[in-house]
Amino acid sequence: MTMQSINPATGELLVEFDTWDEATLDYALTEAGYMFEDWSKLTPMEDRCMMIKRVAEVLRDDVEPLAELISIEMGKTYTEAQAEIEKCAWVCDFYAENGPKYLADEVIETDASKSYVAYLPLGVVLAVMPWNYPFWQVFRFAAPALIAGNVAVLKHASNVPQCALAMEEVFRKAGFPDHIFSNLMIGSDLVERAIRHPAVRAVTLTGSENAGRKVASIAGSELKKTVLELGGSDAFIVLDSANIKQAIQGAVAGRFQNMGQSCIAAKRFIVDQFIADDFVEQFKNAIEEKFVAGDPMDPETTLAPMARQDLLEELHEQVMESVALGAKIVTGGYQLDRPGSYYAPTILTDVTSNMPAFNEEFFGPVAIVIKASEPAHALGIANGVDFGLAGSIWTNDLATAETMARGMESGATFVNNISFSDPRMPFGGVKNSGYGRELSEQGIREFTNVKSIWIK
Ligand code: NDP
Repeated sequence: MTMQSINPATGELLVEFDTWDEATLDYALTEAGYMFEDWSKLTPMEDRCMMIKRVAEVLRDDVEPLAELISIEMGKTYTEAQAEIEKCAWVCDFYAENGPKYLADEVIETDASKSYVAYLPLGVVLAVMPWNYPFWQVFRFAAPALIAGNVAVLKHASNVPQCALAMEEVFRKAGFPDHIFSNLMIGSDLVERAIRHPAVRAVTLTGSENAGRKVASIAGSELKKTVLELGGSDAFIVLDSANIKQAIQGAVAGRFQNMGQSCIAAKRFIVDQFIADDFVEQFKNAIEEKFVAGDPMDPETTLAPMARQDLLEELHEQVMESVALGAKIVTGGYQLDRPGSYYAPTILTDVTSNMPAFNEEFFGPVAIVIKASEPAHALGIANGVDFGLAGSIWTNDLATAETMARGMESGATFVNNISFSDPRMPFGGVKNSGYGRELSEQGIREFTNVKSIWIK
């Protein structure tokens, strides 16, 4: 089998790689298992932190070629790709500075002469990762997991093999010995074998609900821990007291960042009925003014391609199914007539709960607008889906916003700001958006043995 790296802005095949066979996979996992002993026991935490700091330096030194690689392999603008690399460097620095504090022994007063909780590494952790933020999704897992003393093996999405290899090279350049962070050149068909390998102790997956279910059920049958960061259909609630200008800016940024291919993108815009028409009008104008299609490497480009043609077609089908059920297209709703996988920024209105636009994740530049009669109704609509990743509320009434934020069934809710991930705050979902947390203190502890030590 081969893995193809295709430039979605042109459709050009950039390079093709042979995927590994079972024996090569087994060898890589076994080696990773051996390295765990060295890394966790012989490399003190301070040294692990120092090495992760060096990774941050390499990322900053190489920001230009790495960002270019992201752009040509998955299509996002070079500007967004640069920001992604900078954020990876930040998460490395953040955990190098805070990891030791988060993992320090915690003394607990008991009947013992000494008792405490220690946070010890688990072993080899398999990361099954997506293409949408090909560096960030990996680094937000890898930086804390490695500092905790685990070893990381990456099964990256099949459309970003060059990014996967480049990350391995970043670690090498930073002085990491082989097999502490390694890329497995495998398709999803060999993921089951990797999970069942005795060296692998836990699995983290970021991606679709479907992939999450499959991976978690295999890991479950092996009694191996999983963290799942799956999709979302995040609500962006606009109450009648909202500052509309600010909300529109948030709506454009929140929905169309990364061409809408973000798990925490705002997807359903639930707007008070008295301001909804005005909101839609201004949203449409803002979109039509802002987005200009072009080469993602060109700094003038604001409309980049989607990462793969099949994903664009899937999105278009979801749009058309919703239209067949009564949704209206205010703007967009078509693939641009040019080479590459460009989809016109789209707004759908008249969306009801029987449509894909309401129930399914729309992983691309399509905004779904739904009217609400009052705040409680808006919250009911927000919670009326199976997902629960994040969401935002826009209003000048902060007391109401905070009550609604607590009532929103999500892993995070933002008030008067779009959702985003920040190494200082936990990140993850509830319901079908997954379980477990990444980032912050909670994130670094996910792949540890929370161990009680009790001495009489
Ligand atoms: P997938 O969930 O299929 O891919 C994510 C990762 O999981 C990839 O590494 C993929 O490998 C792997 N994978 C897929 N199926 C399996 C399986 N059965 N067993 C083991 N590993 C598997 O996402 P897609 O790229 O196909 O995108 C489809 C949809 O998923 C999107 O439209 C979006 O809704 C959602 N998605 C959500 C993301 C998020 O951040 N929450 C990120 C990406 C996608 P391979 O590439 O080799 O198939």
